[in-house]
Amino acid sequence: MTAKQRNTVYQHVSVAGPEPEIIGRAGPVLREGGLVAFPTETVYGLGANALDAGAVGEIFTAKNRPADNPLIVHLERKEQVYNVALKINRTAEKLMSAFCPGPLTLVLPGRSNLPVEVTAGLNTVAVRIPDHPVALALFREAGVPVAAPSANLSGRPSPTTGEHVLEDLKGKVDMILDSGPVGVGVESTVVDVTGDIPLILRPGGVTPRQIEETVGSVELAPGAAGNYECAGGKPLSPGLKHKHYAPSVPMFLVEGITENAVKVIMKFICEYKEKGKDVGVLSPEESAHRYSNAKVVEYGSKKDPASMAVGLYSALREIDSLGVDIILAEGIGSEEIELAVMDRLRRAADKVIKI
Ligand code: AMP
Ligand code: MG
Repeated sequence: MTAKQRNTVYQHVSVAGPEPEIIGRAGPVLREGGLVAFPTETVYGLGANALDAGAVGEIFTAKNRPADNPLIVHLERKEQVYNVALKINRTAEKLMSAFCPGPLTLVLPGRSNLPVEVTAGLNTVAVRIPDHPVALALFREAGVPVAAPSANLSGRPSPTTGEHVLEDLKGKVDMILDSGPVGVGVESTVVDVTGDIPLILRPGGVTPRQIEETVGSVELAPGAAGNYECAGGKPLSPGLKHKHYAPSVPMFLVEGITENAVKVIMKFICEYKEKGKDVGVLSPEESAHRYSNAKVVEYGSKKDPASMAVGLYSALREIDSLGVDIILAEGIGSEEIELAVMDRLRRAADKVIKI
């Protein structure tokens, strides 16, 4: 189905004090079945009234998103979780106290009132409270739970600025609220808390160690970090294998000890240059100067891992716009927030080279 043409209102909003007049216009659009893109601390989201099946369906059309991928339901306050979830066990309660609001999504037993468009027919629901004044003001004004994936076209890097949203969704949504660059840069950590031990389905802004410190244990679902080998070559759920965030030209990711990775990338650059190809390199700040024969885009400093998360999606968009023939990406470690960064890079890559 093609997305219906909409007159997109693009509106700057203050993070420090979201203007009541602007929020007062956006809330009813959301409540009454429209599509509103809004900032969160992770990435920008594209919201619809989660109780309105038609409106939620329009999200899939606007993004060209596969229908078998369920959406996260966004709430303003913890008490509202019972409007969409059936029960919350002790583990979920502890995680909610520690990380809501925050970059954590909890998968809980879902209520049957939720449209199939939200849950993809599962008997669970994914719930999050974003830690962002504009998102929370919008939800308060709308007065409904808000189903929202990231506000990008499916397959494109997630948006970390309002301009990214405009690039992808102009004419496809009713309103875009822009309050500048986001703080975290990668999506929320999705954790299944229907059992006793929390299971990370997608690494994100809250790290495995933070979860472990809160509830005593945590497991990473096979394949959840974009590492298909640890799922025996097979993904645990089909969604884990969906190719995401991909640039429009082939990308090779080189993972391993930095010095070796740099040498492998330099060798690739020489080989491609000899064939007359234009090469782009996605590099941590620290190695950027080594790739003198390529167009280099930095995605943050290894000394400050949070900066790599913040810079990743912008860097992917930028390197994709340079018109190179091939992209080589230098990987980083897989501890803490780097796990989420590497997950996204592995999913974006056509080939992962481990050295
Ligand atoms: P996004 O496209 O960034 O909104 O991603 C939402 C993520 O949450 C996807 O990876 C979904 O597969 C996942 N998700 C949403 N609802 C559920 C659910 N009920 N069970 C498991 N994963 C879910
Ligand atoms: Mg997304």
